[in-house]
Amino acid sequence: MKLSRAPNLLIAQHWINLLEQVHISCELHNRYMQGAMGDIPVDQCGPEVWLEHEADLPAAQRVITGAAPTPGAPLMRWRCGSCHESLEPQFTTCWNCGSSYSDFS
Ligand SMILES: [Zn+2]
Repeated sequence: MKLSRAPNLLIAQHWINLLEQVHISCELHNRYMQGAMGDIPVDQCGPEVWLEHEADLPAAQRVITGAAPTPGAPLMRWRCGSCHESLEPQFTTCWNCGSSYSDFS
């Protein structure tokens, strides 16, 4: 069943990574649709994240709601510009030295 349509492929992939981290089975649909159609309305194209199990829906929605892109937030692993620690995308500040991701982007 469909979980949600992502605004772009990068975010769809990001959601899937997050869902896999919490062991929710999911797959990416429509990844090649964007830019390949003529008359299809824009809101009917774009990458979609689908769940394998309907029971996972509430948890999955929480995951991607929490993962809504915020300005300046990392979408993938990043490296702290101060101490060079490698950080997961869910962290917007370096746990090692407290520097903020937005300080380096
Ligand atoms: Zn740091």
